[in-house]
Amino acid sequence: MMKSVVRVATIVDDTLAEGPGRRWALWVQGCPIRCAGCCNPEMFDERGGTEWSVADLLARIPSEVEGVTFLGGEPFTQATELAALARAVKARGLTVMVFSGYPLAELQARADAAALLACIDLLVDAPYDRERPEPRPPVGRRWIGSTNQTMHFLTPAYSPDDPRMREANTIEIRISRAALLINGWPSAQQLVKRR
Ligand code: SF4
Repeated sequence: MMKSVVRVATIVDDTLAEGPGRRWALWVQGCPIRCAGCCNPEMFDERGGTEWSVADLLARIPSEVEGVTFLGGEPFTQATELAALARAVKARGLTVMVFSGYPLAELQARADAAALLACIDLLVDAPYDRERPEPRPPVGRRWIGSTNQTMHFLTPAYSPDDPRMREANTIEIRISRAALLINGWPSAQQLVKRR
């Protein structure tokens, strides 16, 4: 029977820093790839985070956003559950962007990745390589950590000609009684994306 829960590290309900336009961003918990220099090592442990049902995650997505972004952690370690969420997101007319440490060709060879891949409009793939940092935009690409990574336009929803693809990276800082949350992309050399 399908596991209907997602192990979640962090959620930001409305962000301008994690892909084109206003987005709902979900950082999943757990990553077996463990790149040196990863900005979210606290999201490596697959036993951490909290469990959310797909239905509860879907209910949390605001109607005003243009899409959702899955990052982490490694979204494809929970591909079946995220595919269920992504299908429902697409049914609402929203877009789906995913950051994965696995190369696209590797994901395309995995039967368990097909359903999630089929829902993705924008995929940034491959592991982060701190020896090859991406220059800052506009010389480098927005939302990309290292030069070995590729932004794949898997549907016509977005294109490399979209001017938002060349704008500066941004960060967001949220302060509450419970936590300080910083997300976004300050520069290729100094990625900060953690709670
Ligand atoms: S794949 Fe992403 S989350 Fe996983 S270790 Fe690499 S940079 Fe970090």
